Amino acid sequence: MRQPLVAGNWKMNGSMDSVKTLAEGIKAGIDTVTTAEMAVCPPYVYIPQVASMLAGSAISYGAQDVNDQEAGAYTGEVAPGMLADIGCKYAIVGHSERRSIYGESDEFTASKFAAARKAGLIPILCVGELLEEREQGITEQVVARQLDAVINLEGIEAFGGAVIAYEPVWAIGTGKTATTDQAQEVHAFIRGKLAALDAAVADKVQILYGGSMNPGNAEQLLAMPDIDGGLIGGASLKPDDFLAIGKAANA
Ligand code: PEP
Repeated sequence: MRQPLVAGNWKMNGSMDSVKTLAEGIKAGIDTVTTAEMAVCPPYVYIPQVASMLAGSAISYGAQDVNDQEAGAYTGEVAPGMLADIGCKYAIVGHSERRSIYGESDEFTASKFAAARKAGLIPILCVGELLEEREQGITEQVVARQLDAVINLEGIEAFGGAVIAYEPVWAIGTGKTATTDQAQEVHAFIRGKLAALDAAVADKVQILYGGSMNPGNAEQLLAMPDIDGGLIGGASLKPDDFLAIGKAANA
């Protein structure tokens, strides 16, 4: 039985004040979420503040990205060991905004995935197709290619210590959610692809759905057999909505 995970990606939002309000709100309501693990991924600069505010709670935290190098002359970057040092559990890698805005390749994403694991972090690997790729009927090819980059570098076993987030790019921040069938179909494809290489790993890995998940659609999506939680953008900035999604993950 896979534990549901609901992770909030706060993206480049917040200030010391707003982050305080948000973390306090989530912490105050976390007791109402009984089964699912809740995690937040604030902007790097606010992680220590959020970490100290969440101390003593069951809420985990992580980063929205990470570099693939351990240290050195990489101006502006943050190493996986630094995130581990400040207590991060998770690091998102390969978010579609990193891939599309900053041109990060499947190979670079796989390298980040490997570096995160090496530092003891749990990577949350984002995969997903663009609208035109769905329209061309190549969703599975795209997702397979993104997964293969990691499998080729790290081997299938690496997914034993990782999380996958299926995020159709056309559903991110657009208010357009994949239907439960569309999402389940791709989640089942991902699990099946991994199962062909290692059934135990495929059975264990949590596959989150991301793309305009909100309290109104979460219960239906999370009821699907291969959807093990959510990676939440917009709705994770509202404590009540984020907690409501966490509660829906218990069902
Ligand atoms: C995301 O950015 O990972 C995401 C799922 O965003 P939203 O929930 O806003 O679509």
